[in-house]
Amino acid sequence: MKRIVILGAGESGIGTALLAKQQGYNVFVTDGGAIKENYKNDLLQYNIEFEEGQHTEEKILNADVVMKSPGISEKNELVKKIRAKAIDIISEIEFAYQYKGDSKVIAITGSNGKTTTTSIVFHICKLAGEDCAMVGNIGYSFARQVAEAPKKLYVVEVSSFQLDDIKTFRPDVAVITNITEDHLDRYEYDVKNYIKSKFRIIENQTVDDVFIYNLDDETTTENLKNYSIRATKAPITMSKELQEGAYLTNEELRIKWRGEDMEMNVSDFTLKGMHNRYNSMAASMSGFAIGIRKEKIREAIQTFESLEHRMEPVVTIRGVEFVNDSKATNVNSTWYALESMEKPVILILGGVDKGNDYDALQEMVKEKVKAIVCLGTENEKIHEAFSNTVSQMIDVDNAKDAVIAAYRFAEKGDVVLLSPACASFDLFKNYEDRGEQFKRAVKDL
Ligand code: ADP
Repeated sequence: MKRIVILGAGESGIGTALLAKQQGYNVFVTDGGAIKENYKNDLLQYNIEFEEGQHTEEKILNADVVMKSPGISEKNELVKKIRAKAIDIISEIEFAYQYKGDSKVIAITGSNGKTTTTSIVFHICKLAGEDCAMVGNIGYSFARQVAEAPKKLYVVEVSSFQLDDIKTFRPDVAVITNITEDHLDRYEYDVKNYIKSKFRIIENQTVDDVFIYNLDDETTTENLKNYSIRATKAPITMSKELQEGAYLTNEELRIKWRGEDMEMNVSDFTLKGMHNRYNSMAASMSGFAIGIRKEKIREAIQTFESLEHRMEPVVTIRGVEFVNDSKATNVNSTWYALESMEKPVILILGGVDKGNDYDALQEMVKEKVKAIVCLGTENEKIHEAFSNTVSQMIDVDNAKDAVIAAYRFAEKGDVVLLSPACASFDLFKNYEDRGEQFKRAVKDL
């Protein structure tokens, strides 16, 4: 019997454990911290051996294969020992892929827009009547879905950490939404490593598969030449017409693909903002590439509802609009959030900085931001970056004070935008918690 050891008992770890057990593996789950109650129940129910609060090396270093949760870094001492013993380390999506049978996979990666694009693709597929599931960040892990409710089509949101440990993972349709600096702390502050791991999404693809990417994204296009791309390319762009792919000019989206053609006016897109135009295009192109009828794609784009914590309108109080974009955890997302603003902005910014370069925001801030509320434990970098651009700045250390301060700066006709460009772990549990606290504070005003 093959032994699989699973490092980290989060959703991807538990999903892998369930699938591995079902496939006849000898399974051991180990987590250095506490395992959540519901996950523990899953393990007990399926009689899977586990430990928490420790890692017993004898029980780990005898594995045939190790599944490392995406949150665990290569710098981890245990991971180093596993590598030193040349034990195979794979990610959860790799493991799930190996047992998915002949089902199809649409996989979406990128620095920003993954969840939005994945959700739109899923909406398209579901509306078209496909037997499909959305897995990865929203809902179940890919592995749990394969174990508990296999489908003919999986729409998978994939992080670069998941791609770091693939071997055979080969999506029928791969999407890279865009590539900008993020998570550099995990890639030794070398953006090349980060780019390389994103491009791994296409490494096993063949000519029968499709690769969708954004031609207007410089980092993506500059790097295309560094990879041997066997898949059929389906670029998306807003800057020119294409023979094959999706392009948006004069407010019209046009998709041309394998002799077929579809058109749609952007006024029919339910999601607003330039970044969402790209997401809607990439999603439509994905639907087209797996053969979904154009009427269904059109209908899906016209009916998709926006997601929580992503440019989510909260409420308008005395003419001041409040928008929750807590999910903006890097500079690029915040740039797009500001880009889509049509009124003067009071920006709530800050948190855990993953190596941010605020210069990229300089022009946008100058043009649109009246005041900045710094919501983080260390705000020096933000002050350094913007003290010459924005005259009003204040430091706060909780959501309530942030909202009160922002509301004081605001006048009728302004927008208070929480789009922090940073992770949230200094003051909040996660970005959802930050968004919830923000919304509560707004409603308490
Ligand atoms: P991810 O899953 O990659 O983190 P989301 O779809 O959850 O991305 O969106 C996160 C934030 O990134 C949104 O709040 C929005 O401000 C920004 N964003 C969304 N799509 C894009 C895009 N295509 N390009 C740049 N920024 C984007």
